[in-house]
Amino acid sequence: MTTDVPRLRPLPLQCQAMLAICSDLDETPDRRVYAEIARFLNTAQTTAMGQGVDLEVGNTIYFDMPPGQFAYWNTDDAGREMVRSLIRSGHVDCLHSFGDLATTREHAKRAIDELSRHDCRLECWVDHASAPTNVGADIMHGSGDVPGSPAYHTDLTCDFGIRFVWRGRVTSVIGQDRPPSWRGVFTIRHPVASTRTIAKEFAKHILARRGNNKYAMHGPNEILRPVTLRDGQPAYEFIRCNPYWGRVDGADTAAGLAEVLTPRFLNRLTQRQGVCILYTHLGKVRDPAKPFDKPTVDVLRHLADMAHRGEILVTTTRRALGFCLARRQIRFQSDCAEGCCTIRIATRNGTMHHGPSDLDGLTFYVDDPGRTRLFIDNAEVPNLLRHPPDSSGRRSVSLPWRRLVFPGL
Ligand SMILES: [Zn+2]
Repeated sequence: MTTDVPRLRPLPLQCQAMLAICSDLDETPDRRVYAEIARFLNTAQTTAMGQGVDLEVGNTIYFDMPPGQFAYWNTDDAGREMVRSLIRSGHVDCLHSFGDLATTREHAKRAIDELSRHDCRLECWVDHASAPTNVGADIMHGSGDVPGSPAYHTDLTCDFGIRFVWRGRVTSVIGQDRPPSWRGVFTIRHPVASTRTIAKEFAKHILARRGNNKYAMHGPNEILRPVTLRDGQPAYEFIRCNPYWGRVDGADTAAGLAEVLTPRFLNRLTQRQGVCILYTHLGKVRDPAKPFDKPTVDVLRHLADMAHRGEILVTTTRRALGFCLARRQIRFQSDCAEGCCTIRIATRNGTMHHGPSDLDGLTFYVDDPGRTRLFIDNAEVPNLLRHPPDSSGRRSVSLPWRRLVFPGL
């Protein structure tokens, strides 16, 4: 009998797509709204919007902001303690610049010292508006990675742990790490505007193919790429998506989410078996007492149904990027005979930049899950998951996906 060689399944477990809702905290009114949104998204607890949807969704944080906006230095001790708990649990996973009022290296240093002192680490950076500490040159006009500039900080920030950076790039294409496709954005309800959005996206793609730097990521449609910051440090840049028919930033608020996270979008994403880091601002709310209106709650409940059925894996930006990097860099050997397979993954060969938890959910198609063993660096995985055939008709084994544990707020 012949045995097929095990192959890596591109997506975790048996899911058909991976989604991170990557929300910039802009205009979040106060710590109560910040907490209520986090509880609604990440738990099944009772909240102002009804029972939570029990997904895994991160958030961002910044430090120096004008009064009236939730930020680390603006909130009180209880707010800061909450943010730190959420950073430690992985539910705050992105630094959203150091804030509009952080103009110098000293501002950055004060924030990093504070987090380090409390044993809080962040690995993702997301540029914000026109913050001087931004690291994007072309779209975000930052100077945070330019040595000698007043706001230079990336030597400190990368040392602190930042390695994934978002520098302003947003696409309308549904599903990254798949060949470019512009389907799913056009809507007959708004034929002119949606055609314009697609035309813009297509133009970026063509510019990319002609060597344009600004839109280079729109060419291959990859979720991340290795880059060198202007101070010479290596990082991975990622692209976010907002497939709204109007324009990428036309529905990037809590209410706008209802127009974006539609069943049509989710169906297209799963059909494409793509990855999406969704660009939005969930703290831009109409009513602080009830941050999400009913239409937004409804689309999130629909997403939760798909997630709980295992069709789509919803996780934080950091975890989605870690998985995407791991699946790109993973090297394994397999040894199969008469239906029995041993798969060996080596993580200590110095070429990988992901951490151990980034292998969570890693899945291999195999002939006989019951007769497959998986080793990581010579240690056998004791709790291997074994799956029946997925939609491709192939059976598989997976490393378990460990949910983040939401802290008591
Ligand atoms: Zn922002």
